[in-house]
Amino acid sequence: MASHSASQRYLSTRGGSYDLSFEDVVLKGLANDGGLFIPEEIPSLPSDWQTAWRGLSFQDLAFEIFSLYVSRNEIPEADLKEIIKKSYGTFRADNIVPITTLDQEKNLHLLELFHGPTFAFKDVALQFLGNLFEYFLTRRNKGKEDGRNREHLTVIGATSGDTGSAAIYGLRGKKDVSVFIMHPKGKVSPIQEAQMTTVLDANVHNLAVEGTFDDCQDIVKALFADPEINRTHRLAAVNSINWARILAQMTYYFHSYFSIARQTGSSDPKVRFVVPTGNFGDIIAGYFATRMGLPADKLVIATNENDILHRFWRTGHYEKHPVHGREAEGGIEEDGAKAHSEGVKETLAPAMDILVSSNFERLLWYLAYRTSKVEETNRRRMEAGEKVKTWLAQLKNDGGFGVDPEILAAAKDSFASERVSDKQTIEAIKDVYGWALPAQKDAGRKATTGTEHDGHYILDPHSAIGIAASLRSIADAGKGAHHISLATAHPAKFSHAVELALKDQQGFSFETVLPEQFVGLEQREKRVLGAKASWEGVREIVVKRVEEEKRA
Ligand SMILES: *Cc1c(COP(=O)(O)O)cnc(C)c1O
Repeated sequence: MASHSASQRYLSTRGGSYDLSFEDVVLKGLANDGGLFIPEEIPSLPSDWQTAWRGLSFQDLAFEIFSLYVSRNEIPEADLKEIIKKSYGTFRADNIVPITTLDQEKNLHLLELFHGPTFAFKDVALQFLGNLFEYFLTRRNKGKEDGRNREHLTVIGATSGDTGSAAIYGLRGKKDVSVFIMHPKGKVSPIQEAQMTTVLDANVHNLAVEGTFDDCQDIVKALFADPEINRTHRLAAVNSINWARILAQMTYYFHSYFSIARQTGSSDPKVRFVVPTGNFGDIIAGYFATRMGLPADKLVIATNENDILHRFWRTGHYEKHPVHGREAEGGIEEDGAKAHSEGVKETLAPAMDILVSSNFERLLWYLAYRTSKVEETNRRRMEAGEKVKTWLAQLKNDGGFGVDPEILAAAKDSFASERVSDKQTIEAIKDVYGWALPAQKDAGRKATTGTEHDGHYILDPHSAIGIAASLRSIADAGKGAHHISLATAHPAKFSHAVELALKDQQGFSFETVLPEQFVGLEQREKRVLGAKASWEGVREIVVKRVEEEKRA
């Protein structure tokens, strides 16, 4: 299988770069023009995919999908297989992403994406990205003996929690890679802080920054824009705009589709994917999957009260701050979450607390391309890039932009959207806990530590947002549709919200959701460096630490 090994090339959503290889886009992260990388062409599935892929393991499915996006001459077959094997060897579930059916009548299924090392869905992509980095660098450094002229990658990232730990676990101990993760000191949850700082590998550097998450992000941006460090260090990003992350996430859309197909004995089940969404990274992978040919009735965006995406789908306007009047019309403020005036609202689902959604730019490009009237492919691509550039400039300068009705119609064709408040999130955790779990059909599923208590399921707040949105979507989709709701984190990572929801439930105590990996974690030895919120200060630390690592 995997007969496709066409030479896949990549371009920037803002039209500035063309004809880049997979390795180029993975190592660069962001295009020179500030745009995001997309494949020149979305590959189609082989004509026999529905039968040929149906019985494949997660790893074999990943291999087939990645082979459509990565040319064989860039990564030979055996190497790609090895990278995939290594990346998913760290997962605790036999079939990597098991499915729990929550309600048999409603055909409501939870796709558990949190069985990787850090208990959140980001592991699916970051385990793969870490191994890719290592693979490319090993190849570039082949035959080089001494530390001096070896190519070295300096990964710099900011985190409010989940990204940092997943990146650290993806990159720990990797040769020729240093990783610097900044978190706002005292502002990430104790478990998340401990997950990051108890990793003692020499190439992992945690910086506890005296400031906010935004300060950390500003430092990252300043460093990437700084000519001095770019002259001496090859900087790389691991945030969700990296194309390899999107690619890696496509696998579970296919895998879960086949799980449902097998469970129902149908060759073509009707499915909707419901995705708790922040930066649009997870769900854009689903969009690529459907454009390749995976049949999905809808992709449902589930936002928290930071609802820029939901407002776009209601109004066709993408605005950092709700414009008064427009929202009233859409009837969005049903639960007293008043229009937030400044910045991000802190919710019970912090990994989705965003003001603007960076991967949405990728969808914008496709919407512009698909609705274009230009015939010739290259001119059509250029026109799409120009449109995206104009919109993003408006977002930057005016705080928002609006799109034409046919673009909104195209967006609604593939996606629906739901907004879930904190109150509704708590209710969803409580409701689902009250249900009795039905008998399970997924053979790869084992009762996993901490998501079940006494036959009742415990959701984390992000996954609960997906379930709340699913319940609304079920009412709308009619009978026969299967809802695959993506579970993005283990409940133990977000104990605060779970406690809030379940504290009065008989027999519930938080100990019941604590996986053994978290027991005593906060007491373990830590490695963390304090830093002032100054990008020059951080630059000094980075330079010094990389130097020390190379000497070692
Ligand atoms: C990152 C994250 C999300 C949001 O994913 P996006 O790709 O940003 O949409 C949702 N839930 C959890 C637990 C996360 O860590």
